[in-house]
Amino acid sequence: MKVNRRVTREVKVGNVTIGGLNPVALQSMCATKTTDIEATLTQIQLLQSAGADIIRIAVDSKNDVLAVKEISQRIEANFVVDLQENYRLADEIGPYVSKFRYNPGHLFHHQKETSLEDKVKFLVDTAGKHDCALRIGVNFGSLDPNLKNEEESSEDVAIKSAFFHTELIEKLGFKRFVVSLKSSNPMSVVEINRKYAKNFPDVPLHLGVTEAGMLPDGEIKSRIAFEQLLSDGIGETIRVSLTLPDNEKDKEILIGKQIIEDVHSGRFRSVPKSLPAGLNVISCPSCSRVENKAFVELAYKVKDALQEYKKYNITVAVMGCRVNGPGETDEADLGLWCAPTFVNLKKGPELIGKFSYEEVLGKLMSEVKIISKDRMIV
Ligand code: SF4
Repeated sequence: MKVNRRVTREVKVGNVTIGGLNPVALQSMCATKTTDIEATLTQIQLLQSAGADIIRIAVDSKNDVLAVKEISQRIEANFVVDLQENYRLADEIGPYVSKFRYNPGHLFHHQKETSLEDKVKFLVDTAGKHDCALRIGVNFGSLDPNLKNEEESSEDVAIKSAFFHTELIEKLGFKRFVVSLKSSNPMSVVEINRKYAKNFPDVPLHLGVTEAGMLPDGEIKSRIAFEQLLSDGIGETIRVSLTLPDNEKDKEILIGKQIIEDVHSGRFRSVPKSLPAGLNVISCPSCSRVENKAFVELAYKVKDALQEYKKYNITVAVMGCRVNGPGETDEADLGLWCAPTFVNLKKGPELIGKFSYEEVLGKLMSEVKIISKDRMIV
């Protein structure tokens, strides 16, 4: 089967070019602490040997910058930095990376007196200065609080945010950028990326189902979104986000590669128009920002404990830190998000309490028991 790819502008990231007629670029993100140089190098090698084209690293501090500097001297890769709240580190990290990802939902944290427009201009100028590309990375778990309101859905706010930043960057005369619109719901990913592609057909899209969770569900959710979008020719680079132990992180690349090959060969799994109801466990893939390494083990324990609730319409989110933790758990029936020594347990947007890593599973299951009373699928 021949997939008719749309042809976007080309965006160069190190020695890889995203968009145009180039193959869909595969990327992943290190889940190790960035300052743990040996562990991060081991993970980069693992991802490279699986075929990663681009590798993202989180940078939140000057120590992270120093670590990336040393890493970039010891191994060659197309490094992308995830700036999240600390966008001001762009100038320091610029010499060692090929692309900055900024999250429009996190620009408000620092320098409150500086306008959003000036912050984006700083990022554009800094990217130009260091020969870097940019990614506008919109995520449902951390939408711009200035755009959120009661009347609009997360889909509408995400689209509004992506449109606004695209127009802002283009007004500044900068073209070397890609956009991502990620949700943990694959159907939302399909809808918002289609909408964006229709309005900005020239801008390359980075596809991802964020917090897709553990295997096999994480792969299934990613497939649902990617099959529909890639077969429409939409998506110039992809990342499969999975909650995995560090030594299995290469599965993100291997599974991504398989999905692309399957779509291009016409091998589709059936994708229903609406997803069946039932238990939905959302978990982030973890990264350098994870507050406690016990997160991955906790996520697996939650998944195991919930198996007896497969026939109940319940969504539980397990998140590694405060970056997307508070937002993503707001949307779930029950949510856990990790702090260094305790875990926040929430019911929708309401905080139930803060519990130790040992006791939180028991507390969660008591809440599941209560809400499951009227959630059985008939
Ligand atoms: S929620 Fe935090 S730990 Fe998890 S992937 Fe996002 S930034 Fe990393």
